[in-house]
Amino acid sequence: RVYIVRVAPVETDGRPLFLLSFRDISELRRLDRMRSDFVANASHELRTPLASLRGFIETMQGPAKDDAKAKERFLAIMLDQANRMSRLVDDLLSLSRLELKAHLPPDQMVDLKPVLGHVRDSLAPLAADLGVEIRLDLPEEKIEVMGERDELVEVFENLIENACKYGQDGKVVDVVVRREPGVGTEVRVRDRGPGIPAEHVPRLTERFYRVNVEDSRSKKGTGLGLAIVKHILTRHRARLLVKSELGVGSEFTVRF
Ligand code: ADP
Repeated sequence: RVYIVRVAPVETDGRPLFLLSFRDISELRRLDRMRSDFVANASHELRTPLASLRGFIETMQGPAKDDAKAKERFLAIMLDQANRMSRLVDDLLSLSRLELKAHLPPDQMVDLKPVLGHVRDSLAPLAADLGVEIRLDLPEEKIEVMGERDELVEVFENLIENACKYGQDGKVVDVVVRREPGVGTEVRVRDRGPGIPAEHVPRLTERFYRVNVEDSRSKKGTGLGLAIVKHILTRHRARLLVKSELGVGSEFTVRF
């Protein structure tokens, strides 16, 4: 722990007396370190595609100047890198927007059924590309929670997209909504992919944490998706529970 110690002389009737005060600044230090780690990580993540763009531009100005075929290939890679940078910037902006709103809990009723229908439709092209079927299991009645619609869309887009991308071998992603008496409303997103080794599970919602960086990059991940999910759920007073078994699959549950 880190303390600031202050020594102050106190007025007395002639005898020397001092007051010692201790202030625990460990938490401030920890937050400071987290902030500077975050800036370092974000800069590193942006610098990688930037360095690659610069490399391709120099090659196209020099060695590959007259090679039309190579140039065409390089331009496609450069577009990928530019897209990666813009996904990162979008996610960073999302996070900072959420931090500003962290203390304002949402105050509207949102029906989760149309939200999940919308998410399934918006992910349909990706699911089709990966050969994954997204199955929704919804109750008959409305499932309302206190929330902000666009943020809830972002939560379920992230969870269902992850289930499709990382669990794609399983071919099926199940989204199940239930009202559990005494527990609350739960949305479970289950894949039948390779699962996540137990030691990684507690760290998944850290910014830029990935189980496998190359796998995440090749799947167009930024490493910020679950950090965004956690921020939104905290604001919604909801929790994210993760269960995963190697060789069986993963289940991400949102409990309102
Ligand atoms: P990314 O942008 O890399 O997908 P996320 O924050 O969404 O970042 O997820 C963090 C990491 O958690 C991913 O890189 C991946 O390694 C792991 N992960 C997330 N969802 C799943 C899942 N359904 N199955 C296996 N691994 C997952």
